[in-house]
Amino acid sequence: MRQQMIRLLIYLSIVLLMANISPLIDSFLHPDIPYFDPEHLLVGGITAGITALILSLLISHANRMTSVAHELSHLNKALREQTSRDSLTGLYNHRYFQEMLRHEFLLAKRHQTELSCMMLDLDLFKDVNDTCGHPFGDLVLKGTAEQILHEARTTDTVARYGGEEFAVLLPNTDLEGATSIAERIRIRAQEYIHQDKDVAMRVTISIGLASTRAHCPQRPEELLTFADRALYLAKKAGRNKVIPYSELAATPFPPNSFALE
Ligand code: GH3
Ligand code: MG
Ligand code: MG
Repeated sequence: MRQQMIRLLIYLSIVLLMANISPLIDSFLHPDIPYFDPEHLLVGGITAGITALILSLLISHANRMTSVAHELSHLNKALREQTSRDSLTGLYNHRYFQEMLRHEFLLAKRHQTELSCMMLDLDLFKDVNDTCGHPFGDLVLKGTAEQILHEARTTDTVARYGGEEFAVLLPNTDLEGATSIAERIRIRAQEYIHQDKDVAMRVTISIGLASTRAHCPQRPEELLTFADRALYLAKKAGRNKVIPYSELAATPFPPNSFALE
């Protein structure tokens, strides 16, 4: 309806413009008729005024539409940002990570670049909750997220993957590069003291790694599965370790089987 109105106004202003310049054309075609004839002047003046009014209305409407479009795109961006974040840590959430995994995997394949994936899990975190309470556990999760972010690069995607599990996607990074970043995260996490009013505690993390060139995953989910299996090995090897995916980790294990002896 609004668009029809605008179209109508445009047609009208074109008609009026034509009416406005028609005396001018007339004066060229018939030089014997004086252009500055009072009748022509009156018609020309009125049509020019109306045309100017309609055009200014159209321009202000167009300006308003542009600012509404800007505002909408801004709100859209903010909404997308909000729905892709984890509310506790501010990191990206599981859904966004999955989206980025598919995206980065395709990019790496197309441009023949390396993509690495890191799965991180807090060690014996249940004990932290049991001894210091759930709110302190939350504080540890936030603190750990900050330590991971500190070592990650702006091009990496850092996410809270689940309860006390994190995941990092590292584009343009081979296994060696990913291992050194993972080691830095592990050491930083081990040295960081999580502190509340009367509790202070260090917590360690185990990290599993997988890379496209080193491990040849066929699909994005496979890269993640490889990193997850390596994480399982890191737990099995005694926790607080960085372990890359290997043949050893290739044996399937039941899901959520981190309850180790
Ligand atoms: P492991 O070294 O084998 O990983 O042992 P774990 O104790 O870390 O593993 P487990 O899976 O047994 O425990 C994970 C705990 O994480 C249990 C759950 O209550 C806790 N958890 C999950 N999400 C949250 C959360 O949002 N806040 C807090 N405070 N705790 C959480
Ligand atoms: Mg754990
Ligand atoms: Mg876990």
